[in-house]
Amino acid sequence: MEHPENHEQYKGLTVNSGVKQPPVVNPYFKGRVARKPLPSAGELVEGIIKGDVTMLSRAVTLVESLSADHQAIAQEVIEKCLPYSGNSRRIGITGVPGAGKSTSIDVFGLHVLRDGGKLAVLAIDPSSERTKGSILGDKTRMEKLAIHPSAFIRPSPSAGSLGGVARKTRETVVLCEAAGYNNIFIETVGVGQSETAVHSMVDFFLLIQLAGTGDELQGIKRGIMEMADGIVINKADGDNVDRARLAQAQFRSALHLFPPTVSGWMPEVLCYSGYYEIGIAEVWQMIDRYFDFVKNNGYFEQRRQQQARYWMRETIDEQLRLHFYNNPEVEALLHDREQRVLGNRQSSFTAARDVLDFYFSKNIH
Ligand code: GDP
Repeated sequence: MEHPENHEQYKGLTVNSGVKQPPVVNPYFKGRVARKPLPSAGELVEGIIKGDVTMLSRAVTLVESLSADHQAIAQEVIEKCLPYSGNSRRIGITGVPGAGKSTSIDVFGLHVLRDGGKLAVLAIDPSSERTKGSILGDKTRMEKLAIHPSAFIRPSPSAGSLGGVARKTRETVVLCEAAGYNNIFIETVGVGQSETAVHSMVDFFLLIQLAGTGDELQGIKRGIMEMADGIVINKADGDNVDRARLAQAQFRSALHLFPPTVSGWMPEVLCYSGYYEIGIAEVWQMIDRYFDFVKNNGYFEQRRQQQARYWMRETIDEQLRLHFYNNPEVEALLHDREQRVLGNRQSSFTAARDVLDFYFSKNIH
């Protein structure tokens, strides 16, 4: 390049040519990395049954996908995996944020895996905006399990309706079981409706509580306590031990006031420390006792059948709702009738009837 400063008139000043700049675009870059083609349902099923974690993860991603094509493959995979599923202990774990769920799942998980077998940790958190990037978040929450070769950790399907999120997790359970995971933990944050959803897909429901405030029982919704098959008071360590024992006594007496459970099992209350790993074996012995009890008296099968029926009906409810609300004509009419109701020109009931009549006249021949 010509540098005017090198002209004779500028004595004592020379400008060296610069270094040739590399091209802006890396010539070795081959463009967008092509996505791996979608495996067929048959390939996925074959991989899952062999215990191939990559295939399992890909199938779970399809289960979680909103695309109709992905759903079609996912449903076929689930259907084909069903005969291989069911052979696991499904354990729901709930507790308010900070109760120590992650810490506890980490140690409970290692405890369970000491005897061999495999463990899948799933979650239902409908408020969760978590995306793929935060799988790492979940993995760091459960550090030891995250690097355990026999553990499969999957965060909650990302936000959606509770029913939708829960159904996806339930379908993932089928896939995990077909892949040989004989222990399934399903974690949920104990603050809302999601406990009911988890309860309707597990064999044992564990409620993690904390001691300390003296009025433990007031903060918990009665419904959640009634669902629990076991209540465990975490952080029973250091100078918290006495308070934990007191809470244990309070929970025990509160449980006595509840009507007897359908299973005939009397929920137990134990203290433990997830962090210091105190009392872990005892918690697990309780869970073993429960499984022996309900397998002997037939309740285990009965509960699973009830759940299968529940999910069939839930799915029908969900699909009907989607079909109704996703119809643009229904949507327009709904909007119109809403305006009439708000303007006091029509009652809510006749407005609802108008929309439903329209929907049914369109869909039933
Ligand atoms: P999560 O929100 O329910 O998943 O709770 P975490 O497992 O993240 O625990 C919340 C906090 O409680 C963390 O700072 C843990 O270190 C602490 N923690 C968990 N378990 C115990 C325990 O057994 N004893 C004590 N002292 N602290 C604990």
